[in-house]
Amino acid sequence: MDLTSVLPREAIVEPEGRFLADLMGRGVQGQADAIVLPSSTEEVAAVMRWCYEHDVPLTARGGGTGLAGGAIPVEGGIVIGFERLNRVRQFDPLLWRMHVEAGVTTADVQRLARENGLRFPPDPGAAELSQIGGNIACNAGGPHAFKYGVTGHWVTGIEAVVPPGEVVVVGGPLRKDVAAYDLKSLLVGSEGTLGLITAAWLRLLPAPELELPVVGLYPDLDAGITAIERVLASGVVPAAVEYLDAVTLRFSGDAYPFGIPDGGAFMVVTEADGATDEARRVAAELREALADGAVAVHAPTERGDVTELWRWRAGVAFAILAQRGGAFSEDVAVPLDRLRDVARETLAIGERHGVPALSFGHAGDGNIHSTFLFAADEADEQRRADDACHDLFDLALQLGGSVTGEHGIGWLKRGQLERQLGPAGYDLHRRVKQAFDPKGLLNPGKKT
Ligand SMILES: Cc1cc2nc3c(=O)[nH]c(=O)nc-3n(C[C@H](O)[C@H](O)[C@H](O)COP(=O)(O)OP(=O)(O)OC[C@H]3O[C@@H](n4cnc5c(N)ncnc54)[C@H](O)[C@@H]3O)c2cc1C
Repeated sequence: MDLTSVLPREAIVEPEGRFLADLMGRGVQGQADAIVLPSSTEEVAAVMRWCYEHDVPLTARGGGTGLAGGAIPVEGGIVIGFERLNRVRQFDPLLWRMHVEAGVTTADVQRLARENGLRFPPDPGAAELSQIGGNIACNAGGPHAFKYGVTGHWVTGIEAVVPPGEVVVVGGPLRKDVAAYDLKSLLVGSEGTLGLITAAWLRLLPAPELELPVVGLYPDLDAGITAIERVLASGVVPAAVEYLDAVTLRFSGDAYPFGIPDGGAFMVVTEADGATDEARRVAAELREALADGAVAVHAPTERGDVTELWRWRAGVAFAILAQRGGAFSEDVAVPLDRLRDVARETLAIGERHGVPALSFGHAGDGNIHSTFLFAADEADEQRRADDACHDLFDLALQLGGSVTGEHGIGWLKRGQLERQLGPAGYDLHRRVKQAFDPKGLLNPGKKT
């Protein structure tokens, strides 16, 4: 495979492990003939033209933090990484906008915004590693998506390379644009199967003056879910509404900065934000809504404590993984009135398959990380955990939900989409893919 006709030699690297798997891709290891790390949009376009000419699969890779196996090259060919496409092309703090290349990390976008009194609200958990291109390709969420929406909400334009190697720009530094079919939204969440995102225009917000988390601890799941329902019915808009069930707390509670009180077996984490007076008013309302039936309510106000709380929350996934060495953590989304069912049924599914089960996640969005644990060296246990995931997908569909609220279909949920969309919806989905990528070379095997 001679790519030197289209790329400088230093942009072509030997296939090595880190480009062939993703962070929690269930041990799935892909294969590739070459890894390319282009530094410009023109180089990305040249690679795609070469692939289209030679019928070679092309798999996009951002930070490799995806949890659905989306960046794993399952059919060989070329992996295209975006880490060298990492310039901030323009930043206009007074106009609340930024134009960045796809390989800029999520944390760098957040930092640059923050240092200038602004905020890029999407906050997926692996921000130091994940890239804006990957976030857009997965339409990533996070705890604060409850108030602020997922990544796509903050993207006003995308520059992408689409088959057979054309550069297209949809949207731009515009806040409104209804001219075409919503091609931007088709690329958002397309998991590298429709085009390669090379740059994006992002919308920012003035940072809130104050952020005030309010945490309720409850004796059991029922009391906790009832508290969430009270928060939602209270008429205020929290920035985040998260929950952690009893098993999650057992595995991660030791590091909780304010101490889990006796009898605290279900946690609800909310946050008020905004201008100082507004944040205080909402925090008071949240306290009231969370107090009923609570074992304790914690409401940290010091900036350091608030940071500590969210740092702890971000580390929960790793504390869970550390328990047995293996964890399948899914991300089903259900209508809000079915939260209680998904929390309860997750435990029942785990019991049925003989694997430890727990759930936590973005309760306010009905987007729950139901998780099944296994010992990494126990093949049978791993198989049972995998079976449990399939029962969970069935449950999500029965409850009128989605098999994925933020991680995407990727490789690990292949086969689920047709069940969710039905034959006519799935056919439309397939025809969109064909319109963009008639040869089916972009990230083959994914989002199906
Ligand atoms: C500890 C932890 C916590 C997490 N928390 C969250 C969370 O709260 N919310 C959430 O939504 N996700 C979360 N994730 C999942 C993950 O971080 C996100 O899905 C993230 O958006 C992936 O970005 P990435 O750059 O790592 O993409 P990758 O994993 O490299 O790729 C993901 C998909 O995007 C495609 N892709 C990547 N770059 C491009 C590009 N430039 N153009 C076209 N396609 C591209 C790939 O082909 C693949 O299909 C978490 C992951 C971890 C490990």
